[in-house]
Amino acid sequence: MNYEYKQQFRHALVEWFNKEKRDLPWRQTTEPYHIWVSEVMLQQTRVDTVIPYYNRFIERFPTAETLAYAPEQELLKMWEGLGYYSRARNLQAGVREVVETYNSVVPDNRADISKLKGVGPYTAGAILSIAYGKPEHAVDGNVMRVLSRVLHIKEDIALQKTRKVFEEAVDFLIDPENASSFNQGLMELGALICTPTSPKCLLCPVREYCIAFEAGDAAELPVKTKKVKMKELNYDVIVIENNEGSYLLERRPEKGLLADMWQFPMLERGKENITEKYGVEIGEQKLILQFKHVFSHLTWHIDSYYTVATAILSENREWFTKEQIANLPMPVPMLKIWSKMDV
Ligand code: SF4
Repeated sequence: MNYEYKQQFRHALVEWFNKEKRDLPWRQTTEPYHIWVSEVMLQQTRVDTVIPYYNRFIERFPTAETLAYAPEQELLKMWEGLGYYSRARNLQAGVREVVETYNSVVPDNRADISKLKGVGPYTAGAILSIAYGKPEHAVDGNVMRVLSRVLHIKEDIALQKTRKVFEEAVDFLIDPENASSFNQGLMELGALICTPTSPKCLLCPVREYCIAFEAGDAAELPVKTKKVKMKELNYDVIVIENNEGSYLLERRPEKGLLADMWQFPMLERGKENITEKYGVEIGEQKLILQFKHVFSHLTWHIDSYYTVATAILSENREWFTKEQIANLPMPVPMLKIWSKMDV
């Protein structure tokens, strides 16, 4: 792509974005901390889902200082349902570093911002370009898809090292005068027009610069090798109520999947026994719900039951009233079960 072509491409993309962009709450600000929150929430989560979470979160934690020392359980409660909870913890740890080391000002250069907890190359570039207008690459799945088609890049995007190829491509193409609109334009184009299947090439503002359109092979790009096989696990979840109308919940370990969140007693089917694990003898059980919950590399097949019993308490295991349960951070599958209970 020669210089003139590059200029035309930039212009077409930026102009399209400024005209067609969706009206999203984080697009009404250039406050770096707010952009940071939105970018973390948007990782692995759909825009429509993020909007109410973002609005609530910013209302509760409007500044870096308000988030930095908020109780973790409150933070997790605000994040409840968004999944990937380590994102919330890392965000808070990174924000705390900003407050303590950078006098509450998010760094405006890649070297410093990349040292913050949870800030990878994409998030760093997104904050630097959107909040500070710096011509820095921000390569996510949407950007890789668009550029693999426009520039006919056939490297396997499932490989970590391929990201570098796309970062260099953005460095080459980015409009230094309009870095924010350029990067957001690529992302928006990937989300709305240059979609994974059936890209809407006839509506595309950069069609005349797109090699894949010319070659007629857009549907075959990007190249991506198959994912590893999903792990499947079977669980019984038992909602246990005692004679006083309280429910037994346990806190998950501090590390790993859904760390520190609260759940009803959970047993791997065929491998764990409720009497041994929870010290309870249970009588009749009533089926609540059978369903599956899919994580990125894991599926839980859950059968959930209700019963009445007493249980021996231990660390990380407590009885809660239903009012208290409403304030506990709980993973989505547990919320689903709880919502089926007639309490
Ligand atoms: Fe994507 Fe088609 Fe536009 Fe090329 S012309 S960038 S394949 S939507």
